[in-house]
Amino acid sequence: MAFFDEVKRIGKNLTEKGKDVIEITKLNSQINSEKDKIKNLYEKIGAEVYKAYAAGEETAYSDLCAEIKKIEDTINELTNKVLELKNAAKCPNCGAEVAKDTAFCSKCGTKLN
Ligand SMILES: [Zn+2]
Repeated sequence: MAFFDEVKRIGKNLTEKGKDVIEITKLNSQINSEKDKIKNLYEKIGAEVYKAYAAGEETAYSDLCAEIKKIEDTINELTNKVLELKNAAKCPNCGAEVAKDTAFCSKCGTKLN
């Protein structure tokens, strides 16, 4: 019966290896979800630092904040080009996109020129 014992042993090993693979996948998924939490906190820290920089406060990260400011300026330029092509503008009060020939913002009711 040594043959059947051997088959049983190999089968058991495979089952345990399968369980290990499942466990490893589960643990890696937990690790990634914890890493995501760190990323979100980094983002919050960065946003707070940038908010302080934008408010004129002194920061040790003014070079990086200046880079963000430059990127924001580029985004604004690109956004304005898109608005131009759509013959639209941004409401000065709420920032909603409004057609250029509209007299009032459809979102907040602000009078537009
Ligand atoms: Zn508005």
